[in-house]
Amino acid sequence: MIDLFYMNGLPVAVMGLGKTGLATAAALQRSGAEALVWDDNPAKRDEALAAGFTLFDPSTADLSDLTTIVWSPGIPHTFPKPHPAALRARESGVEVVCDIELLGRSERDAAFIGITGTNGKSTTTSLIGHIMDAVGHRAAVGGNLGTPVLTLPALGAGGTYVLEMSSYQLELTLSITFDVAVLLNITPDHLDRHGGMDGYVAAKKLIFHRQTKPRTAVIGVDDDHCRAIHAELKAAGDQVLCPISGNGPAAGGVYAADGWLVDDRDGAAERVVALADLPTLLGTHNAQNAAAAYAAVTAAGVPGPAAAAAMKTFPGLAHRQQLIRTIGPVRFVNDSKATNADATEKALATFDPIYWILGGQAKSTGLDGLDAYMGRVRHAFLIGEAQDRFAGWLEARNVPFTRCGTLDVAVEKAAALAGAEARPGACVLLSPACASWDQFTSFEARGDAFARFVNALPAEG
Ligand code: ADP
Repeated sequence: MIDLFYMNGLPVAVMGLGKTGLATAAALQRSGAEALVWDDNPAKRDEALAAGFTLFDPSTADLSDLTTIVWSPGIPHTFPKPHPAALRARESGVEVVCDIELLGRSERDAAFIGITGTNGKSTTTSLIGHIMDAVGHRAAVGGNLGTPVLTLPALGAGGTYVLEMSSYQLELTLSITFDVAVLLNITPDHLDRHGGMDGYVAAKKLIFHRQTKPRTAVIGVDDDHCRAIHAELKAAGDQVLCPISGNGPAAGGVYAADGWLVDDRDGAAERVVALADLPTLLGTHNAQNAAAAYAAVTAAGVPGPAAAAAMKTFPGLAHRQQLIRTIGPVRFVNDSKATNADATEKALATFDPIYWILGGQAKSTGLDGLDAYMGRVRHAFLIGEAQDRFAGWLEARNVPFTRCGTLDVAVEKAAALAGAEARPGACVLLSPACASWDQFTSFEARGDAFARFVNALPAEG
């Protein structure tokens, strides 16, 4: 638990009472501050009242005694339309920050590694956490990924916080400075919340704010936006700069090429680990994540060989191209987190041949952009609401398919066909390109069900 000693005796507002908001209120109360909490949802307010907090509506209350509102990053404070409480706070000179800013103010002696990007944040953050653990470095992982940061242990000097940072969280930090800041990639996402692409890019760039040498910026150079930011930082020369790439040489940086992760930071292009030895980090996108994690932990003081060894034992993140089981030559992979075609594309690009389980509640973009991978699909197994719509799409592209209705049937049929064909490299892939809510409570529940069905399959022979 983090001590917010500098808030002792002060009233502090908390806006938004999800897991993070309630954890913030609890940390404030334990630190001797007066936690004044609000959520526009009455059920959340009741929960907070029952937990003993004082209700305070910052949209209408007198803000003159207040210096800080701890804002839930999920609530719009600028675009598409600022919440009235955010407008009033700014007019009254009250700072609007998120819980991560408070962590930074409390833990002045600890080190901070921040990870952002449109995709791959959770994977890279957990991989960095895993390496830190494996080499015995005192670290705590949180932020956008799972644990609210104010419930993490106090680490003090010698400890490192590894924080997944969303663009919303970055916009709500003022003073936190990352010793190692990682920007993986930028593609259009959440544009409504940032007033367009420029706003989104500007929010992502905040991860590098205030960095001076020897603090390090690790930047993916596989997309135009990040390449432009890399060039900008290089020209300014404020921090140590490490370009990374998942698909070819990045001079002076860390990159994946010819099946190896390569460290070229001192110009020697040293091979540090074979990508084939990283079975839980399949695909070019994961090579980018691996390069970023390696660059980040070594910049934070972990010796290269120890980092490389630890990467080999990364268990992988559940529901993201997660290897569940291998039967004969057939791998069974759970990519339930792929709830749209963009995410599914990454999995289709990774495997060949594919026995593809897809469907659920379709997004408006359907299967757009996936045509190029259909040559890899031996057979598609359709489930959920989208099955008729997707059947039409597959038929038009001459991809053989079976309407299975439910996931148990799809697993059984896919396993039978893949097993009978026994092709080298075969993959039964759940990458639905759909939300799960028609048949499951969440993508996690869908992935767990897939793993259960796969683990119940008979062994080979
Ligand atoms: P995030 O936390 O940013 O949402 P995750 O690590 O949870 O990212 O990965 C979510 C999905 O995004 C993965 O299943 C994969 O399809 C895709 N992905 C992961 N890493 C990358 C990357 N570096 N570049 C592009 N796509 C990625």
